[in-house]
Amino acid sequence: MNRSNILVALASVAIALSGQAAVAADKALLIENVTIVSPEQAQPLGNRHVLIRGERIVAVSDRPIPVGAGVRRLDGSGIFLTPGLTDAHVHVSQAIGLPFGSNDPQIAALERDFFAQQPRSYLYFGVTQVLDPSNTPERVAEFAAQRLHPDIYRCGAAPVVDGYPLVFVDESVRHTLFEDYIFEPANAREHPLPSGANPAEHTPEAVVARIAASGALCVKVFLEDGFGERSDWPTMSADTLRRVRIAAKEHGLFLAAHANALDMQRMAIEGDVDVIMHGVWNWNEHDAQRGMPQVIADHLRSVHERRIGYQATLRVLPGVTDLLKPKLLDDPVYAKVVPPRLLAWYRTDAAQWFKAEAFGPDVQAAAILERVHAANAHWSTSDKGMRALRHLYELGHPLLLGSDTPSAPTYGNQPGYDTYKEMQLMARAGIPLAAIFAAGTINNAKQLGLEADYGTVEPGKIANLLLLEANPLASVEAWARIEKVILRGEPIDRETLAANATE
Ligand SMILES: [Zn+2]
Repeated sequence: MNRSNILVALASVAIALSGQAAVAADKALLIENVTIVSPEQAQPLGNRHVLIRGERIVAVSDRPIPVGAGVRRLDGSGIFLTPGLTDAHVHVSQAIGLPFGSNDPQIAALERDFFAQQPRSYLYFGVTQVLDPSNTPERVAEFAAQRLHPDIYRCGAAPVVDGYPLVFVDESVRHTLFEDYIFEPANAREHPLPSGANPAEHTPEAVVARIAASGALCVKVFLEDGFGERSDWPTMSADTLRRVRIAAKEHGLFLAAHANALDMQRMAIEGDVDVIMHGVWNWNEHDAQRGMPQVIADHLRSVHERRIGYQATLRVLPGVTDLLKPKLLDDPVYAKVVPPRLLAWYRTDAAQWFKAEAFGPDVQAAAILERVHAANAHWSTSDKGMRALRHLYELGHPLLLGSDTPSAPTYGNQPGYDTYKEMQLMARAGIPLAAIFAAGTINNAKQLGLEADYGTVEPGKIANLLLLEANPLASVEAWARIEKVILRGEPIDRETLAANATE
């Protein structure tokens, strides 16, 4: 160890010691007479007392817990204590709705506003844990550098050369922005290894090893040959997927797949992935069928039998079509989750670039909405996603919660608010409230391998909790009636997290 290393080591010991001392002395919280709603309990438990020390729950009792004078107390009479929500599919590095690669200082200022508010907006809607399934450690660290932020976890993205999502990134930078790409020999002729790259660094084994070393929980692959009618993007072969599967298992990572079309989800099942990160809403040649076509039922049965995690991500397509709603930005919740200057910018012509890209430059909103909702057109498929979700639920499958915020550069998806809207859509699909609750708490915690820390109100778990004015097992709207968010033992009044809060 050289001298500077020793200094660094000593400094971190000092930080660790002082951090622990501070926690023990002044961070204890007692919540009294509260009704606990926790997914391992069939019924809410009234008149409970919950003691938090430092960042963890240390006691839950049906009798008053004696504590010293220095412990902060919260009266829980008439309110509900739940675990904080986990949204297991968010993308925190996109400043929603802003153009990519702009040099305009005004846009840069709006980006800063967005990133400062983003973690608070998740918390505003009770999301105290997020998983970003395709991000780098550096960008995730930027999110976590804010003073108040949900606990964040990540997967490493392993796309193939020139494949999705790289097709949306400028060719000159796509393989430097996504360093952990896999060279797919089956596509070598049209999609060769980028010049200067070392083939040994882009095998499935090398890529998965790098992702594991970066501290990720999971590897994400992309089974996507094109949106809508398209099917010409290079994809991963079954053999490459098999090698990724083996390597991920060796490193203790779970394997997540982007796939939303029937044929692509079948590849995911054949490849033995752990989680499919979208609902099946592209039914290929069965798209126009009503009800539940037998092929979709069979597909969902194999998802269930193989215990594959399934995120419905019902908000993906409505998040885009919502841009056609003339009063979208007048929704009062937007002022709570979007910084004031950015909200004003969303109303400008410049902010309509993605709407024009998605629907054509001459946006006839009413006519398009009518068309997409009437026909089984590309953008109208959330209805199929809802039917599939309901069917999977009826098979007895444990559901997951993932909003895919933002699914596209659309200001129709907003942090936190979109998680709430995803839960509302699950309810509209006919999923009982207890199953939605389990999806956002214990099921997601288990899927991420983090059930020792999250998912229930029990001693030993991290104190990321919510105090709600209403029972979430009685109405899905309870998830928007948050009084306080408790973040690692620190109680925060919800309204102080709002984008328009006056501090
Ligand atoms: Zn996504």
